[in-house]
Amino acid sequence: MTQTMTVEEARQLVFDRIKVLPAEEVSLLEALGRVLAVDATSDIDVAPFDNSAMDGFAVRAADLAGATADSPGELDVIAHIAAGDDVEGIAVGPGQAARIMTGAAVPQGADSVVMVERTSVVSGDGGMGARVAFEIEPRLGEHIRRRGEEVRAGDVVISAGEKLGPAAIGLLASTGHATVPVYRRPRVAVLSTGSELVEVAEKPGPGKIRNSNSYSIAAQVIAAGGIPVRYPIVADDMETTRAAFEKAAAECDFIATSGGVSVGDFDFVKPVLEELGELDFCKVKMRPGNPQTLGSIRGVPFFGLPGNPTSTYVGFEIFVRPSLLMMQGFSAIDRPVTMARLSHDVKKKQDRRYYLRGRVELVDGEYSASLPNSQSSALLTAAHRGNCFVVLPEGEGVFAAGTLVQCVRLDMEEGVQ
Ligand code: AMP
Ligand code: MG
Repeated sequence: MTQTMTVEEARQLVFDRIKVLPAEEVSLLEALGRVLAVDATSDIDVAPFDNSAMDGFAVRAADLAGATADSPGELDVIAHIAAGDDVEGIAVGPGQAARIMTGAAVPQGADSVVMVERTSVVSGDGGMGARVAFEIEPRLGEHIRRRGEEVRAGDVVISAGEKLGPAAIGLLASTGHATVPVYRRPRVAVLSTGSELVEVAEKPGPGKIRNSNSYSIAAQVIAAGGIPVRYPIVADDMETTRAAFEKAAAECDFIATSGGVSVGDFDFVKPVLEELGELDFCKVKMRPGNPQTLGSIRGVPFFGLPGNPTSTYVGFEIFVRPSLLMMQGFSAIDRPVTMARLSHDVKKKQDRRYYLRGRVELVDGEYSASLPNSQSSALLTAAHRGNCFVVLPEGEGVFAAGTLVQCVRLDMEEGVQ
């Protein structure tokens, strides 16, 4: 099947081939930024015991009824409890208090904590055996963090499908998870086709250029949570292309290629894909990146990006990045969009959807989208300086300065809006 289609149709075709990868058990820190594969439950109550939220005194609130700075209540200190101490056997009776540190277990009998700043020592050193004056009557339960306040033993603390940020990692740590099952990162084959290409460390000779796409694609793979596997340059001939694709399909979960998807005399991506696997489409109504090739080789999804560096970059963002996120179990696969006013007129000459490399910024409280002069698909500078794709919908015409346009936020992660 080969036809021209809209970006949405093409994306759907890509996504239809994507399956979530199996889960793997990884150490807790390795799970950062990834998606939990099963519900995680807690093995204990968190907090495990009632504990003090302040350095101060554990008291019986009723003992301090009506206490003020002018008429303080006085109590005898019968214990000195540090964080980590076992309070078994300690009981605070009427007229008594226990000096207590933050995080220490609240002893029996005490029902509130008064912070040390609201007390003064009447006699002794403020610890065991001292007499202390309290200038307030605490609320019942004040400054006590309750057992099970965060989560109860056996309860789900993080659900399957949730992305693990630093707070989630902390929760999992407090509930006993030294390792957790998360969806595997896709190994992504990065293959650059083109007999004009030389490796980056080389100075290109006549007619040659550096294989920059291999690096930009690999970097985009990493940014999307995948593991890039960069293969040697694939020369423009049928044999080499076939051998490279076969190897990639055997070793990786996803194949991303650059170049060779047009109708040039030496474009072999399509014929090899048709021979080895399945080919879905070749043209998408977008710019840059009209030729995009989707298919699969032995069940491994394949995406053929165009060779022009900017087209490669845009095509990856629109099709490959969301695919890699899906493979890792993410449900949010679209970057946030900011509506902004064009800072100047933009003329659109083709009936395709444009993804222009631009910059969205707050100017006097309103979002403004500006575009650098050169939008050539061979130039990556605009993408480097920008922070968004300014999307101009299908249809021709002039988009006047002030027109509200969608800006796909490349500087913001999916799911934050
Ligand atoms: P192609 O899609 O193979 O016709 O290539 C389109 C344009 O992108 C040509 O000018 C190529 O030289 C350039 N190009 C192709 N592959 C790469 C690459 N790996 N790195 C940088 N530029 C490339
Ligand atoms: Mg080429």
